[in-house]
This record gives sequence, structure tokens and C-alpha cells, in this order.
Amino acid sequence: MLTDAHVHFFPELLTHTPPFPGWDPRQIHLNATQEADREAVAQVTRRAPNVPGFPEVVPYFGIHPWYVADLSDGWEDRLSAALDQFPAAGVGEIGLDALRPDLELQKKVFLAQLELAVALKRPVSIHCVRAWEWVEPLIQRTVGPAGLPILLHGFNGSADQALHFIEGLGWNVSFSLTSIRTRLNSPKTRGLLERLPPDRVLLETDAETLDQTQGFREFCQAVETLRRNGTANTANH
Ligand SMILES: [Zn+2]
Repeated sequence: MLTDAHVHFFPELLTHTPPFPGWDPRQIHLNATQEADREAVAQVTRRAPNVPGFPEVVPYFGIHPWYVADLSDGWEDRLSAALDQFPAAGVGEIGLDALRPDLELQKKVFLAQLELAVALKRPVSIHCVRAWEWVEPLIQRTVGPAGLPILLHGFNGSADQALHFIEGLGWNVSFSLTSIRTRLNSPKTRGLLERLPPDRVLLETDAETLDQTQGFREFCQAVETLRRNGTANTANH
């Protein structure tokens, strides 16, 4: 099944009926990034089953590292309440971004959300920019050993790093490649496609506008071709 493993709210999700040009996943993982877009994600999730041909929506609620400075008292209770309303929802988008301010606050907020995911047994969708030295131990303290599904979205690490998380640490982790940013012929991308179990590499748009979803179907087809060739090469050796 074709899935967009990480996408954001854009207004057409509440007004348009499929087909969307170039974007026809059967399932989408729709991430909130702050309290302000939580209701929109909830509305799309409620709307989806009533619109013929609309993808199945898995909602995620969380505080993205870019928005930690906006938090006000009681945010954890409000997040927990949103997750209670949607038993299939994950915790996302959460994580750390070392290129953005408030890294110490980011760590506190990230850890609190990982602990909430463990308490409620929810999957997590994680953003990490130049922050593996903190993200890895925080996952290892919480959702990693708990066996909860972890998506490392927009992953641009190496196959060695990915295999360390899968085999070395035993995490239930997947890695998603972003259609608008991934260079398919880079050695890193090829390494991930060739060396990881196929079900561990997912595809995403990370779109925040309808425009950014375009080209996703082509991207998925290109990855499929690359995977087939990779398999063919292996079989020849
Ligand atoms: Zn995102």
C-alpha cells in the first residue's frame, strides 16, 4: 500500500475531493506541529472516512522543536487529552533541531513527549537535525526499549547508522525519505535502499502545501525502480 509516511496540514485537505494531482497515497500520516494546527489535523481525520477516495488518515499530535518557545502552562495535559480523543493517533512531530534556538528547552519538551508516548503506547514521528548525540540516548531511555514504532522522518543518515538503530539497539524503527529533498542517485540513498530491509524504508512528502505533494507518485515509482535494480544486482553476484 502506498503511504505518505509524513505530511502536514494544508487547507485543501478540508475542502478538496481526490484525485489530488500526482499524490494518491492510500494512507497518510498527518502531523501537527503545535497546538495551533491540532484542530485542523483532527478535522481532516474525521472528514477522511466520509470522502470517497480520500486516503486513510493516521493523525499525530505533538510539539515540533521549532515551536517550543510558544508553549504555555498545561500543554502536556492538553496534548494528552488530544491523544485520548484519537486512540490510533501517534505523537509527532517531535524531536530536536540543533540549528534552532532553545535546545535545552527542546530536550525537555522532546523527553516529556517521548514519555507520554510510552505511557499511552503510541508511535512517534521524529525530526532530528544535527542532534543525534541527544536524540539517540533519549529514544534509548524511552520508546526504543518499549518497542514502540519510531519513524525517523526526513532521514539523511547512513545505512550504517540506520542498521545500528535496527540491529545494534533493537529499535522498532523506520526511516522515511522526503520526495522533495532526496537525491535518489546519491550513495547515501542507494545505501539505505540496498542494505536496509525494504519495510524499514518509507516515503514521505513532508508537504505543508498542496504544491509540495506533487511529484510524489513519480518519486515512489523511481524508488521502486531503484529497489528492483538493487535486487537484480544482488542476485547477479
Ligand atoms: Zn515535518
